[in-house]
Amino acid sequence: MYKAFLIKYGEIGIKGKNRYLFEYALMDQIKFSLRKVDGQFEVTKEQGRVYVEALTEYDYDEVIKALSRVFGIVAICPVVLCDNNEWSNLCQVTGDYMERTYPDQHLSFKVFARRADKSYPKKSMEIGADMGEYLLDRFPDMTVDVHNPDVALNIEVRERTYIYSISIPGPGGMPVGTNGKATLLLSGGIDSPVAGYMIAKRGVKIDAVYFHAPPYTSERAKQKVIDLAKIVAAYAGPINLHVINFTDIQLAIYDKCPHDELTIIMRRYMMKIAEHIALEEGSLGLITGESIGQVASQTMQSLRATNAVCTLPVYRPVIGFDKNDIVEISEKIGAFDTSIQPFEDCCTIFVAKHPVTKPNVRAIERSEHHLVDVIDELLKTAIETRETILCE
Ligand code: ATP
Ligand code: MG
Repeated sequence: MYKAFLIKYGEIGIKGKNRYLFEYALMDQIKFSLRKVDGQFEVTKEQGRVYVEALTEYDYDEVIKALSRVFGIVAICPVVLCDNNEWSNLCQVTGDYMERTYPDQHLSFKVFARRADKSYPKKSMEIGADMGEYLLDRFPDMTVDVHNPDVALNIEVRERTYIYSISIPGPGGMPVGTNGKATLLLSGGIDSPVAGYMIAKRGVKIDAVYFHAPPYTSERAKQKVIDLAKIVAAYAGPINLHVINFTDIQLAIYDKCPHDELTIIMRRYMMKIAEHIALEEGSLGLITGESIGQVASQTMQSLRATNAVCTLPVYRPVIGFDKNDIVEISEKIGAFDTSIQPFEDCCTIFVAKHPVTKPNVRAIERSEHHLVDVIDELLKTAIETRETILCE
């Protein structure tokens, strides 16, 4: 029934040149999202509107699901296209549309008519009034309410006529690609995929870094992170996942530093490596799934200590969230079931029984000094031997 979809997007702050960037990024993301849906689609832009037209048969629910993942979309309106604009035909098609869409005809409506084709014999006002009259005649149970109608029926006469009245909410946000790129520290947990999703929603393209420690962490643990990157990519677009072999660095820390400081020192080297890769890849910031007080390494003192090694801004979108709030988003985006698969992550193996909860930056730096002979070479090797996996 629906041959097309009108895509509504928020227009605040997208005047002039920004508008084009916004619209083209939106269209790119729509195309990316529809790639995995059966059928052929054309995405077009016309007089400040974006349309998706189906060129073949398709599954309606799948298309709505795909479009519901595209940041920047405020609403999706399924459209019936009428190829023959001749007035009696247009009335017939519009009436059939109302009949099928609203089987219970006890409703009020208002016609919003727009004549984009200025050669059309009826003006917008006339189209609205005459169509209203036709519908009232055909459906005695319907009424017109111009102030607060149950159904806002849109009729746009162009080369063809676009008929729509349903509006399905989109995710909001901004199209990915309109706000630069950031590098996500992606673990196999619940929080970091949510953090990546939230920053991508602001239009930021995502790269990711995962630290694994074979043989202490398994291939399955790595696969889980790849799976999570793919889940985030369904919203954020393709993600380059850099997998860093962190084993030798962890062993060196374990060997030479106080065990109650292992986690915090390890986190500092993770941040350092992530920042190095971020700068190499043109990212403008780092993203983590940290939340104040969630664990020992996320106290205010610990966050300060990890933050101290970075010059790039570190975005922590879930910083003030309770776990429940994070889980809610994780479930909504379809990551939760993957996140809770029970594979070890590299932190759990080297955790001390009583980690410091209030690390002092000076003390940590003194401990790190024990690594001075080996660390530069270890960091260099870890960065150079990284494996980069395209997740989409
Ligand atoms: P998550 O659920 O995201 O794993 P968490 O509650 O387990 O978070 P931590 O393990 O302390 O918390 O990690 C805090 C943040 O550090 C994570 O959200 C993530 O951004 C980053 N991080 C932790 N471990 C790794 C790893 N192995 N690879 C990449 N990033 C990591
Ligand atoms: Mg974790």
